[in-house]
Amino acid sequence: MGDGALSELNLILLGPPGSGKGTQGERLQADFRLPYFATGDILRAAVRDGTDLGRQAKEYMERGDLVPDDVIIGMIAERVESPEAADGFILDGFPRTTAQAEALDEEMGRLEKRLTAAILIDVSDDEVIRRLSGRRTCEKEGHIFHVEFEPPKEEGVCDVCGGRLVVRDDDKPEVVRNRLEQYHTKTEPLVSYYEGEGILRRVDGHQEPEDVSGRIRALLATLQMEEQA
Ligand code: AMP
Repeated sequence: MGDGALSELNLILLGPPGSGKGTQGERLQADFRLPYFATGDILRAAVRDGTDLGRQAKEYMERGDLVPDDVIIGMIAERVESPEAADGFILDGFPRTTAQAEALDEEMGRLEKRLTAAILIDVSDDEVIRRLSGRRTCEKEGHIFHVEFEPPKEEGVCDVCGGRLVVRDDDKPEVVRNRLEQYHTKTEPLVSYYEGEGILRRVDGHQEPEDVSGRIRALLATLQMEEQA
């Protein structure tokens, strides 16, 4: 590998709610042994634990609105600069606004790091609604199942950690509609933002999870080859 090459893999997962970012994030984390920071998971844990952060975020999350940038940015900066992230990281659910993307760029600059790729998992609104209506989330560790497409071995119980599987409050239909709207108005502009930075990579998210991970692994391998060339 040349010049530091891809020894550091700093990845962002972009895409609407229900596009499979969490599922793919878990796989990438296992494949590449990188820390995986999912802002939604961090916030849900904070709400559950009743911390200050949780109290600040709760109402926004219940409505499917975005939590204010200043709350989120500090929370992620802390993790990106932690020793755990020295060889790279996977971000899921962040950035979600242009202000967050700019703050991340600034933080990366300060740490003399750079983003390797922003991977957009592209999925239609109809598919999002179909997926979220059957999604079940592990209360304990956030592992994800689907009643139809990826049922757990035992109904209502997480295969991975034995946690209880629940319907997230914000997976209810009226909240899902708002989350999608927030995605289109606030997060989708990041597609051209990262296109402008030359790091956007698109993956068709309608395929089977296995095929989506195959595509992601292939594109990361291509990036690695380009770096070495
Ligand atoms: P997720 O699990 O990624 O769908 O996130 C669930 C909820 O957490 C979102 O609907 C937002 O209310 C909040 N949230 C997660 N990440 C962010 C972020 N980067 N900026 C603002 N709000 C966020």
